[in-house]
Amino acid sequence: MNIIRRVFDTKGVPLLAGMFVLLFLAEGHRQLRKRNQPRLKRAVINSLVSIPAFSLLRFLFLPIMIRMAFESRKKGLGLNHHYHAHPLVKGLVTFLILDYTNYLWHVLNHKLPLLWRFHLVHHTDPDLDVTTALRFHFGELIGSVFYRSAFVVIAGATALQVVLYEILFEAATQFHHSNWQLPYRLEKQLSKLIVTPRMHGIHHSMIREETDSNYSVIFSFWDRLHRTIKLNVPQNLIVTGVPSYANPHELTIGFLWKLPFTKIRKWDQANEFKNIRGTSTDKNDLAK
Ligand SMILES: [Zn+2]
Repeated sequence: MNIIRRVFDTKGVPLLAGMFVLLFLAEGHRQLRKRNQPRLKRAVINSLVSIPAFSLLRFLFLPIMIRMAFESRKKGLGLNHHYHAHPLVKGLVTFLILDYTNYLWHVLNHKLPLLWRFHLVHHTDPDLDVTTALRFHFGELIGSVFYRSAFVVIAGATALQVVLYEILFEAATQFHHSNWQLPYRLEKQLSKLIVTPRMHGIHHSMIREETDSNYSVIFSFWDRLHRTIKLNVPQNLIVTGVPSYANPHELTIGFLWKLPFTKIRKWDQANEFKNIRGTSTDKNDLAK
């Protein structure tokens, strides 16, 4: 477990913390979507949601995945232990497998009611910015441990690959949740390879068919492959959140922690905000 301290704690955590601060400053300077809530309030609520989740990630989730990587190597299980290639090639194969299976995991989170209970907490955020990257219920993390560990074994990932992928996964999550307005042409090019803020902004829309799109985490081509990509929505038309949980006063920290264990409200179609469509003069959707 030395590798967690050597790579994740001493390099990954400072890097992610630095990136968080830079994105927080960047989105304050060049804002992409209109805000509904004060930034400080959002930072406090989303940080509190994240404490149990990130503690679990560091002290349970990562150690289990590393253990799985060692076991898979010892027993010669997994794809990468069955062919010869440069370590960088094997690293790329691992990254693609982990990223693709995380795309599928995200789809399952939206399709299976049991998983949606937990993932819903993330989607109830009435705004979208870098602090939303912290807003994951610990239950969602627990469910993903079993799933993601299985693919560490199937890929034959090394411990180092697991840690590096995790750092990249967290960095990408911060970036695509941020409310940072990148130059439009640059973002359009970037979105061909990786998930960008405008692209992921559509995934947090109150309109169901938009939420059910853009599931990718790092590479955006998984959504192209499965035709779940949606780019033709200008950001100032998006109303962020879940229509049946649209009252921001209700979304206290206690409410969010308990939410997965309560009766989950149906997606309120009457409240999907479809009526505000078509009033925009913003031409900057990524499909154009
Ligand atoms: Zn989602």
